Amino acid sequence: MDLFDFEEGREGYYGQYGGTFLPEILTTTIEEIKHCFRECKNDPGFWAEYEQLLQEYSGRPTPVTHLPNLSRKLGGAQIYVKREDLNHTGSHKINNVIGQGLLTRRLGKTRVIAETGAGQHGFATATMAAKFGFECKIYMGEVDVKRQRPNVFWMENLGAEVVAVQDGQKTLKDAINECLRDWVTNMANTHYVLGTACGPHPFPEMVSYFQSIIGREAKRQIHELAGRAPDRVYACVGGGSNSIGIFQGFMDEDNIDLVGCEAGGMGPGLGRHASRLAYHDASVGVAQGYKTYFLQNDDGNMLETQSIAAGLDYIGINPILAHLWEHKKVRFEAATNDEVREALKLVMATEGLIPALESTHAFVTAIAEAPSMSKDEIILVNMSGRGDKDIFTVADALEDDHWKAFIKNKAGEYGR
Ligand SMILES: *Cc1c(COP(=O)(O)O)cnc(C)c1O
Repeated sequence: MDLFDFEEGREGYYGQYGGTFLPEILTTTIEEIKHCFRECKNDPGFWAEYEQLLQEYSGRPTPVTHLPNLSRKLGGAQIYVKREDLNHTGSHKINNVIGQGLLTRRLGKTRVIAETGAGQHGFATATMAAKFGFECKIYMGEVDVKRQRPNVFWMENLGAEVVAVQDGQKTLKDAINECLRDWVTNMANTHYVLGTACGPHPFPEMVSYFQSIIGREAKRQIHELAGRAPDRVYACVGGGSNSIGIFQGFMDEDNIDLVGCEAGGMGPGLGRHASRLAYHDASVGVAQGYKTYFLQNDDGNMLETQSIAAGLDYIGINPILAHLWEHKKVRFEAATNDEVREALKLVMATEGLIPALESTHAFVTAIAEAPSMSKDEIILVNMSGRGDKDIFTVADALEDDHWKAFIKNKAGEYGR
């Protein structure tokens, strides 16, 4: 199915979701981006340059790795992972950022701005700006600036200016609003490098396009390694960019179960999680430039979200995924903070991998479902990032259950 083959007059809409809801003053700027992106998409040289840059700068293609110990331990399906954690700056974010860097250059702009929550997107954008020679300003809620000191340190030392946003709850959605304000004032020389497949059209399409490199590679790699397509593909869903990235490699085949894993936080109940679809707590609305499911109250005020993984802590969801979910093309599940902690321990102890807390949400669902599948079925998990950035959060989360004793006493159980 071609998601981007829009009906007449419905460009940028996926069913009822998507669209462009922005102040009129930005119309010309958005049109310019749409036009430039179309040009890039139709120019075969563009994708070749994009791919080569990622190869040289970020070590692509990232491998697909079989996890024999974890598969054996669970006694069901064979589990494979796509290793987006091996990218420069530690996650899939760089794929989008490098693509938009090339676009910014083509637009003739010299300054980039970006919002960031956990700091991963800001960090990736700051590296790209340094490489391309752009001026760079990163908006981050004050609460997040305090929580994510190491990323702020690197952004500043890479030459970016980091602005601590004081509005609202002082977190991601407030940073997005501040970023939009900057854009309206400085659009003549500034491109807004949006960090996920959300926001006004053409961002959901554009970010999905750049992230499709994950699925294109993974499709070829799993065929080479396992001789066939996977039965199920799991990816965590914040805004929804790494998931739509890998899913695009497997969407043409009807019998592949595509599973999006959201942040279940402390479990069901408004304000206790960041799950828009799995817990059925969100409703359709328009905010931050587009129409989708938002975690909001009856008055349309956005709710607070809660997750152990800062990168999944967002109120809205990719309008393409909302549409695919409605048509039962993508299944949604949620993983709670406690389940994430247990899955992280298991993956570390059996395979020596350290997935980011975000990515561990995908492992939770895969680990829960693998045992009821047969040994010749195949699971592919997108490991969107590495866990180094989570060291303090994980240390805190593990303090109360004597993690050190667990390692000492139980590690042997998971041996060969
Ligand atoms: C930002 C981030 C996510 C969530 O963003 P998506 O747009 O849903 O992919 C997931 N994993 C990691 C490692 C991240 O940094």
